[in-house]
Amino acid sequence: MTTSVRSLNGGKTAAERIDSIFGSDIFSRVIMRQRLPKEVYRSLLRTIDRGEPLDPAVADVVAASMKDWAIENGATHYTHWFQPLTGLTAEKHDSLAAPDGSGGVVFNFSGSELVQGEPDASSFPSGGLRATFEARGYTAWDATSPAFLMRGDNNVTLCIPTAFVSWTGEALDTKIPLLRSVEALSRQALRILKIFGTDQGISRIVTTVGPEQEYFLIDRELFFKRPDLLTCERTLFGAKPPKGQQLEDHYFGTIPPRVLAFMAEAERELYRLGVPVKTRHNEVAPGQYEIAPLFEPSHIASDHQMLMMETLKRVAPRYGLQALLHEKPFAGVNGSGKHNNWSMSTDTGVNLLDPQDETHTNMQFLVFLCATIRAVDLHADLLRASIASAANDHRLGANEAPPAIISIFLGKMLGDILEQVEAGLPKRTIKGGVLDLGAKTLPMLPRHSGDRNRTSPFAFTGNKFEFRAVGSSASIAWPNTVLNTIVAESLDYIAGELEKSVGTKPTEAKLQLAVVSVLKQVIHQHKRVIFDGDNYSEEWHAEAERRGLPNLTDSVEAFAVLRAKKNAELFRKYGVLSQAELDSRTHIAIEKYVKQLGIEGETMVSMARNMILPAALQHQQRMAGAVAATKAAGVDAPDTTEALRSFVQLVTRLRNATSAVEEAGSHHDADSMRHAQQISRDLKPRMADLREVVDALEALVAADLWPLPTYRDLLFLK
Ligand code: ADP
Ligand code: MG
Repeated sequence: MTTSVRSLNGGKTAAERIDSIFGSDIFSRVIMRQRLPKEVYRSLLRTIDRGEPLDPAVADVVAASMKDWAIENGATHYTHWFQPLTGLTAEKHDSLAAPDGSGGVVFNFSGSELVQGEPDASSFPSGGLRATFEARGYTAWDATSPAFLMRGDNNVTLCIPTAFVSWTGEALDTKIPLLRSVEALSRQALRILKIFGTDQGISRIVTTVGPEQEYFLIDRELFFKRPDLLTCERTLFGAKPPKGQQLEDHYFGTIPPRVLAFMAEAERELYRLGVPVKTRHNEVAPGQYEIAPLFEPSHIASDHQMLMMETLKRVAPRYGLQALLHEKPFAGVNGSGKHNNWSMSTDTGVNLLDPQDETHTNMQFLVFLCATIRAVDLHADLLRASIASAANDHRLGANEAPPAIISIFLGKMLGDILEQVEAGLPKRTIKGGVLDLGAKTLPMLPRHSGDRNRTSPFAFTGNKFEFRAVGSSASIAWPNTVLNTIVAESLDYIAGELEKSVGTKPTEAKLQLAVVSVLKQVIHQHKRVIFDGDNYSEEWHAEAERRGLPNLTDSVEAFAVLRAKKNAELFRKYGVLSQAELDSRTHIAIEKYVKQLGIEGETMVSMARNMILPAALQHQQRMAGAVAATKAAGVDAPDTTEALRSFVQLVTRLRNATSAVEEAGSHHDADSMRHAQQISRDLKPRMADLREVVDALEALVAADLWPLPTYRDLLFLK
């Protein structure tokens, strides 16, 4: 048997074959163990696994070994790879080795170059943290995230994950606050474990994240024919095709061969980079797909998520495809999100949100659960703000994505236990039982104690929460920073209450009573955020309003939340963001909104004037010709004349609507918040008007005259 498997696998055993793919382009633990002196390796692991400070003495040794490994694998350059506040990644390449002019070579990579870089920071957004003439910024090696090789045509580059900070010490990236938020949560979670006496051998708590990425694939040639896709990654015009997603025949359907070939190659590249991709399938909308990795510590998951988006984009063209990560590339069919599965775990691998079998006796779990519930209720506005963007506005609250109202789905079993806690000591855990399929040859299936809920923005799914409102093109660093921080605050609060009532070494019975009494009050105050019903329904919107839950339907409203005192105080208290760092992020988010919609408005105007109007006029001419010819033939043609008349009216509307967008888009305001408000109030509705006219024209103009690939072409060509 082995021989046939070997021959199938190109002469390799399964393990050998997997070894040659998985993680082969990362400076992994296996490679470090082989190459580094034992003491250096151990010291580095203490930093990676236990969060201990990096010993500067190890850096030189690691750098030398990393350089050799990279050069042996074809690398010629290295870069400090970081995530500035553009929401993207940044890199500046330097050569690893260069000719010395006399036939030898000089190596350019030392310990200090590994640890610290100095890119010019002036052209990255700082949101007012610094003036443009103050250019100094530093990148600092994040030893906890593995270095990797990025392969392209004719180039291999050693990428060193780094944090990016200004000369004044302010975080200019998304990674530093995320790492700080994990530290904050770790500190508070450890206090809880200490109270329960479950902290032995545990030095820190991490949050774990598994982000499910939704995206669209379209034919790349068609992509280039649409200026809107090319510049905005979404269609600004496009009439609904006769068949959208109503037949529901795409979801989980057979993956088209070209798409599958693309997926396999993208996954292979991701495996080489150590990104643990696990799942692939068709999503709900035609042309929409999903890729999901296994969960990892949140800061690694966040780096890997950036690599995943970049890999999808990079590989797709090799198959004549274009990957669209935008939240809403097409009106009328589902948009794309990034379901952010999140939990808390000890460094020994114990999931703190695992309810286990007799959940009602698992007081520690109930504490972590209720802390999360309290956090989400107290800071629903901040969570909403963490996922706000012009692109996500098209999705949230529309009928297929979670609404902008943040609520929690718990399911029957947990809902029942919380009700019991509110009334006293919990006594039972509802069990799911088994499903008998009624055919002897099929197995009995264990059944969960409750069904799933697809409509909730923040759902408990077995042993983790799934924050579903995150946008598909967004970095997950910021929403997770917020989530970690708000939960840290609730853990702090609950730990404080428990310490007050029982001290640090209580008996089990006393502890149980104290926990129930604290949680009872937490549940009573915060259960309004729990909702297991249909989040898409109108009744829920009315009910949420009665419950006093915030409903920030528009990003501009959500950005304002970031300016609230309570939030600045929260980030400051837990050492996640200073006031200036928070202000800079708020400023950048608003500016991005303004710029993005400005670009969309201008693109609309130019497409309407240069493409749609000429096509409409040609069509008008054809119609007029038909009327004239019919009349000349002596036939009365009232219908044709009427059709021409209403078509001409539509063309007039096109001209007016185009000018209206142009006019609303030409507005400027030095205050970016006021500008954003003007855009939301004036520009957006006019863009919607213009789109309506153009889509009506698309339904009338002859196909051979229409200048853009249609939704049918874009969504169904596989
Ligand atoms: P489902 O959404 O159908 O429950 P999975 O169980 O496969 O699907 O999980 C979806 C995502 O959640 C995957 O990326 C998975 O790795 C991640 N996930 C599972 N457990 C955890 C956890 N403890 N913490 C964070 N993410 C998790
Ligand atoms: Mg899921």
